[in-house]
This record gives sequence, C-alpha cells and structure tokens, in this order.
Amino acid sequence: MPNMNEVVGSHDLLMITLDTLRYDAAIMEEANCPNLCGGGGWEKRHTPGSFTYAAHHAFFGGFLPTPATTDKSTHVRLFHSKNTGLNTHPDTWLFDAPDIVSGLANEGYRTICIGGVVFFTKKVPLARVLPGYFQQSYWRMTFGVTNPRSTEHQVNHALQLLEGIAQDERLFLFMNVSAIHGPNHYFVPGAKKDSVETQRAALRYVDGELGRLFTAMRKRKRPVFCMAFSDHGTAYGEDGYEGHRLAHEVVMNVPYREFFL
Ligand SMILES: [Zn+2]
Repeated sequence: MPNMNEVVGSHDLLMITLDTLRYDAAIMEEANCPNLCGGGGWEKRHTPGSFTYAAHHAFFGGFLPTPATTDKSTHVRLFHSKNTGLNTHPDTWLFDAPDIVSGLANEGYRTICIGGVVFFTKKVPLARVLPGYFQQSYWRMTFGVTNPRSTEHQVNHALQLLEGIAQDERLFLFMNVSAIHGPNHYFVPGAKKDSVETQRAALRYVDGELGRLFTAMRKRKRPVFCMAFSDHGTAYGEDGYEGHRLAHEVVMNVPYREFFL
C-alpha cells in the first residue's frame, strides 16, 4: 500500500463500490476488465458488512475490506481514526472526524457521491443517510438497478460534474455502481434469472463504462488514487441461500483493488 500521508492532500481520490460483485465472478472476468484490472488482479478480501448499508458505514468509517488471510498483523489500513489510543502504522492516514468523508473535507477535499442502489436514492430518510456523508450527492432513476445502462448514466453525470471542478481543487469522488446488483439477468440476452454468469456480463459492461471516468480523472492536474471493491457478494442458491444480508462465504468474500490511475 502507498503511504497515505503522501497521498491525502496531493492526490484526488476515487472510491468505487461495485455493489454486490462476487469475488469469484470478479476473478473469472479479470482478463475482460482492462480498466479495473489493467494494472493487476483482484485481491481476495472480507467485507465488514453483508449488505450495502452496513458495509458502507464501515467503509466511510475507514474500515475497508480486510485481506482474507489469517495474518492480521501485517495488514496496514489506509485510514484510521485519530487519537483512539491504538497503535497505527506510519503510512496510515489519520482523520480527526467521525468518518473519512468529512475528514477529507476538513483537508480541503470536495466530496461528491454518485449513488446507485436503493440506499442512495435519497427518496426516504433512510436512503439519505449514506449520501448525507458527502457535500454533494446525486441520484437519478437512470442510475438505479433497473436501468440496463445505469453505469453509462452515472459516468456521464460524473463527467459533467468534473467539468465544473477546478483542476487544483482536491476531489474525493465516490461512486456506488448499481449495475452488478440484481436484477442483472438482462446483461445476457435471453437469460430469465440472475446468476454468476449474468453478473459476470454486468461486470464486463461496468468495466467498459468506467474507462471514460478513468480517462477524465487522469486528465486532471492531480494524480489519482483509486480504490475499487465490492461491498458484499450475493448467493445464487449456494447451500440453499439466495441474496445477501447473510453471512455465507459468497457474500462475505469480496474483490478489492487499490491503484494509481
Ligand atoms: Zn450493496
């Protein structure tokens, strides 16, 4: 991992949650995801939450998915709350705020959320909590899980916003990608229900759309540090389980990558 004390302040930050992407589906599509996996493959990690709401509170609290190994001692966190009394690594960025989003805002970052799944719709009070971490947050019907071109719309919106942001302004852009979440069967013509196969097709679609976002971010003045990972997987009938918000390994194992754009 990089020294986050050299990253925060000098880099733009991009955090992308690939909502509901299973680790096994991500691994099988590495070769077909030149944007997300151009510089390397996915790391197997454990999510701190089995569904969107729980996982994102943890992420924004600085608790990103942890390596899926028994060696906990060598894992260095990117972010950690300041003054907890716990020992922290010199490369970890410490924030003196309730969460990393407001911590980054305190460092002069403009914080923007492009929402995707239902917890980001801002339609009911509960769905305003996660977007509420950010100074600016956006959700449109076209960003949601039922739109087969959701990522295209989300990326288009981000590109529009980027045009209005000064090059020297520090930017923390968060995007919750909804396309891989169910329903995703429409990414395979003729498929009647969601499956690992249709989720893989959704991921290929998402990767293709993210290319435009990466290109636009690369054109900005500051270098960009990107974190891309899933918030949880989902079960397609394994051991009788369906969906997420349950602690099966297909839910708790998630793909994780961090890289400089
Ligand atoms: Zn989710």
